[in-house]
Amino acid sequence: MRQLQRLTIVTQQVQGQSITLTVEQQHYLSRVLRLRSGDRFLALLDSGVTWLAKLEEGTAELLEPQEVKTELPLNVTLVLSLPKGSGFDEVVRQVTELGVSRIVPVISDRTVLKPSANRRDRWQRIAGEATEQSERSQTPTVEEPIDFSRYLNELEMSKSNDLRYFCWGRGDSVHLLSHLQNDLLGGDQIAMNIGITIAIGPEGGWTDEEVDRSVKAGFVSVSLGKRILRAITAPASAMAIVGAVLEYRV
Ligand code: SAH
Repeated sequence: MRQLQRLTIVTQQVQGQSITLTVEQQHYLSRVLRLRSGDRFLALLDSGVTWLAKLEEGTAELLEPQEVKTELPLNVTLVLSLPKGSGFDEVVRQVTELGVSRIVPVISDRTVLKPSANRRDRWQRIAGEATEQSERSQTPTVEEPIDFSRYLNELEMSKSNDLRYFCWGRGDSVHLLSHLQNDLLGGDQIAMNIGITIAIGPEGGWTDEEVDRSVKAGFVSVSLGKRILRAITAPASAMAIVGAVLEYRV
């Protein structure tokens, strides 16, 4: 059977069983995807539920909810120091494909790029496109960039009891894989109600103060292997390890 096309819909567009399509969405469905009135597609609602939908004139009708099982069983937050140039676009795309739930762009001591206005909207859009492409049902949230020290303060004040890992290429940290195996697979099954937060530094690395401060905020420093990865390679590498631990079944 032909794969159904996917389209992200925000809840405000839905009334009862009817979706009001934006002009861009109408153009995309009819001109780009060449769907006609009566054709089916998958509506990815931002509530996380995917529906089979039928295209009509300027609207679409929700037909029935679909069982989509493409999400990781736990929420994974990536706290990422912004890299130079436009490298972050690709990072957002890759980690979305790999199942991240939330991306917090941070400005750390050695961050070179100061993000321009509207960057968040652009990254959120990229996350939406990657969600559709990788057939996920939940679009990750990309937050406004925040100073790393402020992020840590807020984290400490929050009630979050996430497992917190801090990627550090220097030093003799234990591998992320070993930590995840111990922390998540200790019992007979994955501890399902816990989230994971992973912090990754900029090209220039973390300063010693940031390492100390993170440890005080409950982060454990972890290794991603013996080679030093670029700031735009490390996030995908970390997410691939998390995904493998969460989805691997003997
Ligand atoms: N120039 C820095 C390296 C920065 S790499 C230095 O010489 O130390 C960018 C970020 O990727 C690092 O801050 C770290 O969070 C992560 N990273 C890269 N390689 C890693 C590794 N092997 N183990 C753990 N984290 C790593």
